[in-house]
Amino acid sequence: MIFDDKYLEKIPFITREKAEEIAEKYPTPFYIYDEKGIIDNVETLKDAFSWNKGYKEYFAVKATPNPFLVNLLHEHGCGCDCSSKTELMIAKTLGITGDEIMFSSNDTPVDEFSYCDSLGGIINLDDITQISKVEEACGKLPETMSCRFNPGGVFNISNQIMDTPAEAKYGMTSEQIFTAYRLLKSKGVKKFGIHAFLASNTVTNDYYPKLAKILFKLIVKIKERCGVEISFVNLSGGIGIPYYPYQDPNDIYAISNGVKEAFDNILVPNGLENVSLCTELGRYMLGPYGALVTKAINEKHTHKEYIGVDACAVNLMRPAMYGAYHHISVLGKEDEIAVHKYDITGSLCENNDKFAIDRVLPKIDMGDYLFIHDAGAHGFSMGYNYNGKLKSAEILLKTDGSYELIRRAETPKDYFATFDCFDFYDELIKE
Ligand SMILES: *Cc1c(COP(=O)(O)O)cnc(C)c1O
Repeated sequence: MIFDDKYLEKIPFITREKAEEIAEKYPTPFYIYDEKGIIDNVETLKDAFSWNKGYKEYFAVKATPNPFLVNLLHEHGCGCDCSSKTELMIAKTLGITGDEIMFSSNDTPVDEFSYCDSLGGIINLDDITQISKVEEACGKLPETMSCRFNPGGVFNISNQIMDTPAEAKYGMTSEQIFTAYRLLKSKGVKKFGIHAFLASNTVTNDYYPKLAKILFKLIVKIKERCGVEISFVNLSGGIGIPYYPYQDPNDIYAISNGVKEAFDNILVPNGLENVSLCTELGRYMLGPYGALVTKAINEKHTHKEYIGVDACAVNLMRPAMYGAYHHISVLGKEDEIAVHKYDITGSLCENNDKFAIDRVLPKIDMGDYLFIHDAGAHGFSMGYNYNGKLKSAEILLKTDGSYELIRRAETPKDYFATFDCFDFYDELIKE
């Protein structure tokens, strides 16, 4: 770790001038996504896993369910990982169907199974009790099916607890999964996958290799015990991003090499060298390439120094919900020394509506634009409407430097839309 102020700064992908230009047309707050960053990253990911013939990334749509961004990723070879009907609808609308859809849902309403099946998507079963439900919903089981595994216990990487699968609601135990594959085979399923998601936002190159080892060993056992050959191993999501500027980013080539080593050591000697790998990354695909841009509109000097901005937790919930760190740059002041300690707040009547607490930043003047980094995944999509606050626009910064609106901001009309069957509706939406 190098404690050098310069090194610790994250560089925003737009300038103050660009923010001003955009804000003239689309007032703050808004989300902005960096097309070039997204493309470079997805191409690097594919290159890193190119040693595996069938490798495919299924973008976790829940991270950023914007059809323009999902389509951009699809143009670069990604499918969709969906877990709800509306996410499946996004895929369908973009012409992403068949085995380009991975349906990794849980607590699933049966009609979503039949909807997924009607698109030809791959159903990834969260539980053994769902086999009969899928059968009923779809008439018969699809030819391809996947099962989600949960080993229980604690998931460690080099003595560090990464997560506690035993406490997670997802997936089947190993005994259940053996039974499930036998049952699926007896009911005519032809092609099989396996999936597990054991830790979230891992900033270590060891997560996928460790997960791969667990799943590869398991599929050797499945082959021996159930006579079922697994065709694809889905390593799911969980590769993280460095939210803090001092964190070292993951090295996707090191990750891929670690997985390859496990592949060569476990699968190849057991005649499973044709297994395809897939991933369902969300955060890693878009997190660093999206930011929330917001304007300082109020300052308050009481027991602490507060800067009030025009965005709030409705636009980006992670700090309020998880106490998550998001780095903040004051646009145009990147080179100024950070000497002021602020709480950066939104306007919700909720004291946890703070994008940063005791954050040391350059002096913030009213009208300054704050660039809240790493909001490109699980950012906009987690938004809600508390306090009647409205969701922001989303804008794509294109590779040629121009920008395009890819979702307009909500208006009161959107907020009140579900009252449209009542006679006071016309009055409500007048403003
Ligand atoms: C959320 C989720 C993902 C994506 O997770 P990231 O941490 O964003 O990579 C992938 N698969 C499933 C089933 C998920 O629920």
